[in-house]
Amino acid sequence: MKLFMTTITDQKACPFCKGVNQCMAYSDQACWCENVEIPTSLTELLPLHLQRKSCICLSCINAYNENKEQFKADFLDLSN
Ligand SMILES: [Zn+2]
Repeated sequence: MKLFMTTITDQKACPFCKGVNQCMAYSDQACWCENVEIPTSLTELLPLHLQRKSCICLSCINAYNENKEQFKADFLDLSN
């Protein structure tokens, strides 16, 4: 039996763009994110209650690596 969080947090949605993150952390398969280095500074942009709950999607990781300032401008004000 799998354990599920009782909160409504959608673990399959990227916390930044709300897109599908294709995270496999909640299935039996290995997740793609295990082979990708996610910048700590990127996860730190998330509110504490979202950190390590839902996976950030690959396109957001790429966007952040390409242009951090633009990424912050695009996504950060959504959490306010
Ligand atoms: Zn995303």
